[in-house]
Amino acid sequence: MSTGRFGPPYGGQFVPPETLMAAVTALEEGRNAVCPTPEFRDELAFYLKEYAGRETPLTFCRNVSDDMGCNVYLKREDLLHSGGAHKLNNTLGQGLLARHMGKKRLIAETGAGQHGGVATAIAGAVLNLPVEVYMGETDCQRQRLNVFRMELMGAKVIPVTGGTATLKDAVNEAMREWAASSEDSAYILGSVVGPHPPYPEMVRDFQTVIGTEARQQILDREERLPDEVIACVGGGSNAIGMFYPFLQDDVRLVGVEAGGGRGGNAPGEHGASLKSGRPGGILHGALSYLLQDADGQVIETHSVAAGLDYPSVGPEHSMLKDAGRVHYESVPDADVLNAFRYLSRREGIVPALSRHMRWPTS
Ligand SMILES: *Cc1c(COP(=O)(O)O)cnc(C)c1O
Repeated sequence: MSTGRFGPPYGGQFVPPETLMAAVTALEEGRNAVCPTPEFRDELAFYLKEYAGRETPLTFCRNVSDDMGCNVYLKREDLLHSGGAHKLNNTLGQGLLARHMGKKRLIAETGAGQHGGVATAIAGAVLNLPVEVYMGETDCQRQRLNVFRMELMGAKVIPVTGGTATLKDAVNEAMREWAASSEDSAYILGSVVGPHPPYPEMVRDFQTVIGTEARQQILDREERLPDEVIACVGGGSNAIGMFYPFLQDDVRLVGVEAGGGRGGNAPGEHGASLKSGRPGGILHGALSYLLQDADGQVIETHSVAAGLDYPSVGPEHSMLKDAGRVHYESVPDADVLNAFRYLSRREGIVPALSRHMRWPTS
């Protein structure tokens, strides 16, 4: 079913043929052989339900709905085990796949460590697989608490000192390690990015549980589909997981990117790759919208929310943007902070807004 491209032209496997191609191909073959089996699906369902706490509620927000004059619901991925995000849906899926493929170790990289690294550490602990998390030395120092949490769960955090000692260097190091050890190691990617096949589609499939549940929950509750579904877009995994089951419906879909400090226009001040990026850039093995300067260099991003601080976006979102099926907007930090305080005050729900932590780019 995979053509290797979303659209085309988005997606693809832009990895060094001599080192990573075999690992990527073996993973795609493993996924096709393992993921559809009843055994794998039952086991994943067990972990998602009894361990991670699915299904998550769809909460009717009474106070916000009164204020807005329409019915507003929140899909509560903040209540998933791991404290505040949806990442575990995917790391449990990829971790379990790794175990079925006979891998002995999970490799991941993280910028802030907030959710990606911690969610991989959780999956490794519960699935009995050792975890190595590559993290820039600079980020390790800025994020001591997350390093501590990962180590507490048995993960080995490996500080990367090369380059600027931040995410891009950690990615390079993790990729190098995977290329050298893919026989017995799996590389866990935290969003719908990376070479396609399999990563963007595989991660989407693991995150689609969000939208599948939400669609049924709203039908049960309202006896109709919603007018609009809104999700934030960093790499795009929670958004695509939410949107995917609604793509064939007459429902307006809106993805919101990080507008950053100046409303999304000044380079280096935001993370709005779909709004302001170019449609033909390659980052982490796939072609997608990418924030680049005139020379093709990747531009630094900024957002008050660390999870949205990514200069590219999943290739399927690029396709959905061009097709006009999903509308992408960006919201500046100041408005995000107002909404953050508003939701906390009106509903007693504090959203997963990380402290300001940069996710540096290559
Ligand atoms: C990782 C993360 C995001 C962004 O990642 P997506 O792949 O776009 O979903 C957004 N919010 C939180 C809380 C996160 O942990």
